[in-house]
Amino acid sequence: MPLSRVTKCVWQHHNRKTELQPVFDYFRSIANEAIRTGIEKNITSQFGLHYELYYRLRSEFYSQYIYGALRCAASKLKFYRKMKRKNPQIKIPHISKNHLILEGGAYKISDGQIRIPIRPRQHCRIKLNHYVLEQIRCAKIGSITITEDKLIISYSKQITGQNPVSFVAIDRNLDNATTYDTQDKFTIYDLQKANQIKQTYRQLKSKFKRNDVRIRERIFAKYGKKERNRVHHILHCTSKQIVDQNMGIILEDIKGIRKLYRRGNGQGSKFRARMNSWSFYELQRQIEYKARWLGLPVKYVKASGTSSKCAACGSKMVPEEHRMLSCPHCNIVVDRDINAARNILARGTRVVPVGIAGEAMVEESKKNILKVDAVQLPYQLTR
Ligand SMILES: [Zn+2]
Repeated sequence: MPLSRVTKCVWQHHNRKTELQPVFDYFRSIANEAIRTGIEKNITSQFGLHYELYYRLRSEFYSQYIYGALRCAASKLKFYRKMKRKNPQIKIPHISKNHLILEGGAYKISDGQIRIPIRPRQHCRIKLNHYVLEQIRCAKIGSITITEDKLIISYSKQITGQNPVSFVAIDRNLDNATTYDTQDKFTIYDLQKANQIKQTYRQLKSKFKRNDVRIRERIFAKYGKKERNRVHHILHCTSKQIVDQNMGIILEDIKGIRKLYRRGNGQGSKFRARMNSWSFYELQRQIEYKARWLGLPVKYVKASGTSSKCAACGSKMVPEEHRMLSCPHCNIVVDRDINAARNILARGTRVVPVGIAGEAMVEESKKNILKVDAVQLPYQLTR
């Protein structure tokens, strides 16, 4: 199998360092200057910016900051040019947050500390925690990003792509994620809690009545962060359990699903809010990067018809009560999520379903569908 390199990030908090403030200011000013020059002279490559600006922007600070700032500016300019094609009135990008990017080789990690140069012979040290040290121990470390309170380290490793014999298909729904694998096992990961959290914060935000934008922004940012942390934790548990089974991943491509729930589509605002807060992409992102890190293949299949067609014979199914579907041809009643996951699996593995494969499932689905809470470790159960 071909060798490839995969990259991941790990981050930790650090205490606010006053000695970093002048460097933040310097970094920001170079990056903004580079954006200005880039737009004026129509330069987008990092190399072009470097050629144009390096000698002008050198100062008493460590010169590696210029590389990081120009890289940051180049990526902002690239994005700006891309967006400008769609919307000519787009604002010129401007960096206002305090941050730093340092390429590999500019900093040093020793004795559990990271040493960041500020000026010649002057350094700032940040102590790394156990988790970060454990993660980066055997990996090749790339660039680092430092913000006011966070340190983000990217690291990579060489992997050989695996060629797994079994695959698992994932059907993502608002309330759960259902998996079905080639060994005919299915698991339903309950994600209702994530939706409850989102609903709680939505209600909390709607109660805010003060007519003050600055306060509202600050409070909403705080709520947003809390909400994100809680929901992402649930999704992390789910994605880890799915990927840890060491199977190839098959997902449905549901890009553009937000278009279905827009204003004016004839749906209620509460329904739209619920559907649009569905974090289907976050789960996909997590599964994908975790699978890539292990060298497992990730496939995408077309989503149309997966939830309405019979997994056994392919005919249109009739909806029943309690999220069940019945097939008039095969005379079976199955859970709609399991049916969808089976359809996705069949598309991904190109296995054409033959005969009534759902018979074994009928009993199971009627009695007790194995439902697991996404947060509490149900891994032994699913095995
Ligand atoms: Zn059927």
